[in-house]
Amino acid sequence: MKMRYYHLFPTTRNPASPDPAWLAEARASLMCSGCGSLPRTGKVPDVVVQRNPDKSAINVVYGVYICYALTSLLDTLCQGEFVPFFQLGRLLNSDKEVVPDVRTFMCHRTVLVRGNEKSTFRLCPVCHRLLYCAVGKRYLVRRHTAGIVIAEDEGGGLVVNELVAGRLSARGWKNLGLKKLELCDEPIDGLNIA
Ligand SMILES: [Zn+2]
Repeated sequence: MKMRYYHLFPTTRNPASPDPAWLAEARASLMCSGCGSLPRTGKVPDVVVQRNPDKSAINVVYGVYICYALTSLLDTLCQGEFVPFFQLGRLLNSDKEVVPDVRTFMCHRTVLVRGNEKSTFRLCPVCHRLLYCAVGKRYLVRRHTAGIVIAEDEGGGLVVNELVAGRLSARGWKNLGLKKLELCDEPIDGLNIA
């Protein structure tokens, strides 16, 4: 059987805004000086946002390249087995209270959801992170998909196989996009990566 893969992504246009004081401190002490990413190794740092976020199932923190999701969504995807797939962090509000029921996450496995030739990308000269903005129909390069169960889309969101995607149907998830991804043998975006 050929495995199918699905893209899970936020459909809200209201990303959470980072708390300015936290952001200034994080930029000075934590983030990559080249691209502003949070480090992907070690513990996921706490992220402080300006307001309690809405109840979107998945969303991003604007400008710092990290997503957060309802704990119940992540739990449903991995059936309670967080450790093999996710490193989890906390989201705090500007009163430094932990926002309940959501977690920031970084996946151990990453994959790039690709777009067409109008997609843009650059490689951070400091941390070598690929910063990619997909345009047009999204797809995966087939040779990059072997063994994917739950992976993080480097452009923001998750890629899951059809078995994992099938766990989502029992209830509605607010602002969660779910789309089947085509598999292509060669990318059409002009980006040559192994
Ligand atoms: Zn960087």
